[in-house]
Amino acid sequence: MTTLPLSSQLDATAVREAVQGCRRVLIKLPDGLLHLGTRIADLLAEEDVEAVVSADPCYGACDVQESAAALKVEKILFVGEAPMPSLAGCYPVPAAFVMVRSPHDIYEALRQALPLLEGTTVGLVSIAPYLHRLPETAEFLQNKGFNPVIGPRSRRTSSDGQVLGCDLTAGTSVAGRVDCFLYLGDGLFHPLGLALASGKPVVAADPSQNRALKQEIQDMKERVLKQRYAALARAMDARRLGIIVGTKLGQRRLNLAERLQNMAEGHGLHAHLIAVDMLSPARLDHLDVDAYVSTACPRVAIDDGTRFAKPLLTPIELEILVGERSWDDYEFDQIL
Ligand code: SF4
Repeated sequence: MTTLPLSSQLDATAVREAVQGCRRVLIKLPDGLLHLGTRIADLLAEEDVEAVVSADPCYGACDVQESAAALKVEKILFVGEAPMPSLAGCYPVPAAFVMVRSPHDIYEALRQALPLLEGTTVGLVSIAPYLHRLPETAEFLQNKGFNPVIGPRSRRTSSDGQVLGCDLTAGTSVAGRVDCFLYLGDGLFHPLGLALASGKPVVAADPSQNRALKQEIQDMKERVLKQRYAALARAMDARRLGIIVGTKLGQRRLNLAERLQNMAEGHGLHAHLIAVDMLSPARLDHLDVDAYVSTACPRVAIDDGTRFAKPLLTPIELEILVGERSWDDYEFDQIL
């Protein structure tokens, strides 16, 4: 039996167990782990399990098309992603998940975060590769005199304290009783989302960079809000809208798209439903509409909105555009 030929972060035994009894599986990996795809396939071949490696981008447990079943696989193996409970039973074939744990030491980043925290009650959130470090992070905070609070999992998350780019429930559900948040993980999108959704100060402790950030998140929040306001201003003269429906299983909000279409038409706009797997300027810039409203992954409008030639609004921003909501009630779009 091969012993950990893959990576010190990925448990070969867990991979084998996840596909036990299958003859053929589809392996899906995020960009950072794509290099492991064929190595996992080699490992599974030793167990007489045939593997098809997906080279398409994989953005999370939400990222599945019904067409996966056409590959005649018995299981989809997500590597490096946490399960999304609300999708259990919805996948075209059963799904299994093997998490990848971050190898980074967390304590230097946590030490740097300490002087940036506000008050004493701290909401603690994280993402999949660091979730196993939350209990010791809470203990670390307690030993330093803080009162850590870990919010509950939601229907789209598998662990307490876990946040997604589209679901910040573990933070927003406790926002009323914490003084600030501490995010353990890399990247700034999740802390930015939490700052936008909760209105509370957010400190990001990033073990991959051995650093902690706070002001940068606040600056980014202000920059993003200005960009969103500018996108709304550009969309003011729009008459023809494209209401985007994501075709990925966990990003599909057809009912919301239809409600927005009716709302837009009720305000004298012409609105088409546009089905998209991946939102990309290369295709969306060419449709004959003046602006888009995306009901797919909420990250795209916030992260990549400026790459599109036409304004790309969130559902909440459409409500503001047509006067159903005021800018003062701006909310971060989430799939809950
Ligand atoms: S919808 Fe977007 S933010 Fe949510 S899990 Fe999928 S890729 Fe991540």
